[in-house]
Amino acid sequence: MSGIELREVWFRYPGSKDWALRGVNLEIRQGEVLALVGPNGSGKTTILKLAGGLYRPSRGEVTFWGSNIWEMNGSKRLELRRTVVYVHEKPILLRGTALDNVAFAPLLRGVPRKEAVRRAEELLRSSGSPHLLGKDRSEMSAGEAQVVSILRAVAAGPRILLLDEPTAHLDREKRGILTDLIGKLRSEGMGIAIATHDHLLALRTADRVAIVENGVVGSVGRPSEVLDCC
Ligand code: ADP
Repeated sequence: MSGIELREVWFRYPGSKDWALRGVNLEIRQGEVLALVGPNGSGKTTILKLAGGLYRPSRGEVTFWGSNIWEMNGSKRLELRRTVVYVHEKPILLRGTALDNVAFAPLLRGVPRKEAVRRAEELLRSSGSPHLLGKDRSEMSAGEAQVVSILRAVAAGPRILLLDEPTAHLDREKRGILTDLIGKLRSEGMGIAIATHDHLLALRTADRVAIVENGVVGSVGRPSEVLDCC
C-alpha cells in the first residue's frame, strides 16, 4: 500500500469508558485527497492522530507503506513518522516571522539555513502569501497563522499531510489559497487527509470522502456519491 492504512482500528482515550473509534478501516493514499466529514465528536481528529502515529491503537493496526508502525523499533518508527505531518486546527507558531516559521521545518530536518530560507520564501510566494513573509507572529490574524502553520508543514516535505479543520479560521481568499495549494500538492504526489466540516472544501478538493459518525467510518466514495449537498 502506497500510504497509510488503518485496519480494524479501535481506540479508547486513557481513562475513558467509551470507544472513540470502533473498527475503523481506512486508507490514506499518496497522490490522493481524502476528506473525513462528520459531526463534532465523531472521531475525525482521533483518526488523523492515529494515522500520524501520534496515538497507538487500542486494537487493530496502523501501517505506513505496508508496515505496522507499532511493531517497529523506535528509530525506524521515528524515521517513518517524519514522512507524515499532522497540522492541528489551532495554529501554534514559533516566535518570529512567517518566513522564520516556514523555514524552521526544513532546518529541523537538517537543511542548511540558506536553502531552508530559500525554500520557505518560495513556498510563501508561490502559494499567494508573499505579504506574509516578514510579518511577525504577533501581528497575524488567526487565518494568516493557520495558513503559515499549514505552509510550515508542507515545507517539511511530507509524503502524507494530515490537516485538521484547515479552514476553521480562513476567509474566502485564504480558502482559495488553501484549495489551490491542496490541488498542487496532490498533483506532485502528496497524499492529503482533511478532517473538515466544510463540505465545499471536500467537494472542491477531495478524490474520496469518508463519512465518520460515532466512531465508525460509514460510506466512502467520490464526493458526489457521498455528500448530501451534491
Ligand atoms: P471530531 O474530530 O470528529 O470532533 P474527536 O476525534 O475529537 O472528534 O473525538 C472523538 C471522541 O473522542 C469524542 O467522543 C470525544 O469526546 C472523545 N475525545 C477526544 N479527545 C479526548 C481526550 N483527550 N480524552 C477523552 N476523550 C476524548
